[in-house]
Amino acid sequence: MSENESHEVAGSKEPQFTDPDPALWGPARKGAIGQFFAPVAGFGVTISSMFRPAVTEQYPEQKVPTQPRYHGRHQLNRYPDGLERCIGCELCAWACPADAIYVEAGANSPEAQYSPGERFGKVYQINYLRCIFCGYCIQACPTRALTMTNDFEIAGPTREGLIYEKQDLLAPMDEKMLAAPHPMVEGTTDADYYRGEISGPTTSQIDWVREHRPEDPTLATARPEGSK
Ligand code: SF4
Ligand code: SF4
Repeated sequence: MSENESHEVAGSKEPQFTDPDPALWGPARKGAIGQFFAPVAGFGVTISSMFRPAVTEQYPEQKVPTQPRYHGRHQLNRYPDGLERCIGCELCAWACPADAIYVEAGANSPEAQYSPGERFGKVYQINYLRCIFCGYCIQACPTRALTMTNDFEIAGPTREGLIYEKQDLLAPMDEKMLAAPHPMVEGTTDADYYRGEISGPTTSQIDWVREHRPEDPTLATARPEGSK
């Protein structure tokens, strides 16, 4: 038995090991040719790069598109009828390892229904001085209210400006949407919204907004679901 092989000590069942062969973990030994070229081998990457095309990006004059799943600025989404998806549950804030999210929930009421169900995100802030764009928050969100866009141009001259408020994060209104607050689609529950069964505002929702906020600009473009 060689010096490096395991062997059993007399009277013991436990195998005993000695140091492994130094050839297995020591530096590789070079031959004469290897030793001759060793001083210039380190330039190999540099020299091969000289013949590759330049990869300098002329930002911001030329913007290179990000990958589709790039983690950029967050967005608070809406349902097709315009109600907000955020229910103020704070799960995103609890999931955030950088403590970058602040949420305060508010109670929906018949006069001011911002999201399906009982509560909505009344205050919603993301501090982009803290955010590390890990995406834990969007994974924690139970209603897919929070997602991340491909927008990476978030730099700014002030610290206050990098704390984004709810109005900075809310998704733009689609053409047929009706701005919240307004009642839920008649005869539905919040579960119907979560299951994706709402496809747009209804005539009674549009009438409600026309009665309570006749100056609302989305009245001009909101269309009942099913209409063109
Ligand atoms: S992306 Fe990560 S760090 Fe940024 S707000 Fe979400 S959980 Fe926090
Ligand atoms: S964004 Fe999602 S996780 Fe965060 S408070 Fe709103 S519903 Fe809850």
